[in-house]
Amino acid sequence: MVMALSQRITTLTGGGSDGWDLFLKARAMIADGVPVTELTIGEHDIRTAAPILQDMHRSAMGGHTGYAMVPGTDTLRDMVARRTAERTGVPTTRDNVLITPGGQSALFAAHAAACDPGDVALFIDPYYATYPGTIRGVSAIARSVQTRAEDAFQPRRSDIEAAVAGARSLLINSPNNPTGTVYSRATLEGIAQVCRAHDLWLISDEVYDTQIWEGEHISPRALPGMEKRTFVVGSMSKSHAMTGSRCGWLIGPSHAIANLITFATHTTYGVPGFVQDASAFALSLGPAFEAEVGAPFQRRRAIAQRVIATQNTVGLIPAQGAMYLMLDIRATGMTGDDFADALLEQEHIAVMPGESFGVAAAGHLRVAMTIEDDAFEAALTTLCRFAEARAA
Ligand code: PMP
Repeated sequence: MVMALSQRITTLTGGGSDGWDLFLKARAMIADGVPVTELTIGEHDIRTAAPILQDMHRSAMGGHTGYAMVPGTDTLRDMVARRTAERTGVPTTRDNVLITPGGQSALFAAHAAACDPGDVALFIDPYYATYPGTIRGVSAIARSVQTRAEDAFQPRRSDIEAAVAGARSLLINSPNNPTGTVYSRATLEGIAQVCRAHDLWLISDEVYDTQIWEGEHISPRALPGMEKRTFVVGSMSKSHAMTGSRCGWLIGPSHAIANLITFATHTTYGVPGFVQDASAFALSLGPAFEAEVGAPFQRRRAIAQRVIATQNTVGLIPAQGAMYLMLDIRATGMTGDDFADALLEQEHIAVMPGESFGVAAAGHLRVAMTIEDDAFEAALTTLCRFAEARAA
């Protein structure tokens, strides 16, 4: 007999798979020596830039290897605050910023602050794979609001209203993983109205805010009446290709951040000082560097638009931001799961089924634009031919 574990831990994925079956199958094939083209995971094909690593080394050799300040170093908190104020126009100081081990930890902290056990926490489907588990991790009830392919997965205010009973928070993500959708001003104003009318916390995951290919990024914290009820999740992972450094942040009202500093003291105990110093250095490189990190995705998006325009079977959800494409393969009559599985088996190309991200993206595929341009174009061309053959 093993010792019983808490409900919270054993039901974290809600009883189903965690959505990564195809990814694991692809990795197993690679381990067996099969040459698989991986378009699955949201990670750059470049590594963290050498000057950032040199700064990390300098900091560590200089002695910043002890316990760092739990809320984050003053320097990094000030830089994140200034950057946020500049980008959004909302006055933001160090007291509004908690440095966290990645955006993932900020998502957890935000829900811990917003929800008591048993409260309903809303999130938008399709969703980044960890969302419902993060909500269950704070013993809240994860309730999804489905979006629709015909709306390019922009949430409808009426759909959120219909799910709002008993809710304390709403989690949104723009630019969106997995759809590549950037929420319009009208979408965000509708969301803000629901939050104000029903006294919800809004948790806005903006980790892709430097990767906008069409339209503009609007942070809902800047909308009227929203600053006091909005948490913004940010991260160095996507903007600066620092996924492994585990450095992100949460921005919120100062009283909430003060409580979350206590929470951090009792959970993470902060982020290594040398990682924070390197992150401050990376932020000091400014928007030109962020554009450089995002450029390959913008380039590959243009390649994808060109390839997809040559056929009529595979549809492309307007790829407005982030490092993903959402492809509509419903014309093949196959589910995303079956298509992705067949594509992996027969063509050795791994993409994520839309079904891995909830129910709203069924019959779709998420393609991560995270391999070199020529290989990306070849894989996407093969995918389209494969779909055409299935549809015929
Ligand atoms: N939010 C979204 C939408 C993501 O795609 C990711 C990473 N894939 C994260 C948060 C978490 O990233 P990190 O913890 O590396 O900051």
